[in-house]
Amino acid sequence: MAINSIRGNWILTGAIIGAFLVIPGYSKSDRNDDLALSARSTPLLPEPLEVRVPEMSFARLYSQLDYRNPFPKTLSVCPSMRVSNAPPTDAGLEITGYRRLVTVNDVKIAIAPMKAGCLSSGFGIRAERLHKGLDYHYREPVEIYAAADGIVRERKYRDDYGNMLVLEHGSGVFTRYAHLQSFADGVEIGATLNLGEPIGLMGNTASYRIPIHLHYEVLVGEWGDQAGSFALTPVNVLAKLSEN
Ligand SMILES: [Zn+2]
Repeated sequence: MAINSIRGNWILTGAIIGAFLVIPGYSKSDRNDDLALSARSTPLLPEPLEVRVPEMSFARLYSQLDYRNPFPKTLSVCPSMRVSNAPPTDAGLEITGYRRLVTVNDVKIAIAPMKAGCLSSGFGIRAERLHKGLDYHYREPVEIYAAADGIVRERKYRDDYGNMLVLEHGSGVFTRYAHLQSFADGVEIGATLNLGEPIGLMGNTASYRIPIHLHYEVLVGEWGDQAGSFALTPVNVLAKLSEN
């Protein structure tokens, strides 16, 4: 039965091939006329378009547009507050030369990754210890944003940093956000984030009483096998305003 079936298939295939070999009404000269016609009409056809897709991820292109840059357009030092290591300001306390993004290694990083706030502490020695980041204060818990495209590397509570998040941005650049009141949905270890994407709310979580503020660190170096983000070296991004 199987052999009959195979033989039947061959007969059918032969019939189909035969039908193509003898096509009624389609002679060689007809085909040449068709070719001549298409050759005559070719100059009327538009040149084929070469569509080139730029080698840029949609996320990166999107992030370069201004509406994905939700950071403050101006930045001030907090008034009526003693701000350690404050950068130069104008008479209205606005930080001189402030711009929303600076370059660290080859990564564009936000200086103030939040919806609103003022600088309440700069980078440097404070009370005989190195303050490894920038503090931004606001009267209520505002949104905090990813300072660049990145991946969540650490998300935990610590007595000193409270609810803390560390993002990795590539090229050995990382950012830390501390004292968050809460984490945004989906901000789990391994999650991919775009520049300007909400990551949580400013807060005052820690084992001691502190005002509502974001403690923000920009870090460079190699991730530690044991120490994790604490193996990295903090960078003063405010100093970058006068560098690049
Ligand atoms: Zn701080």
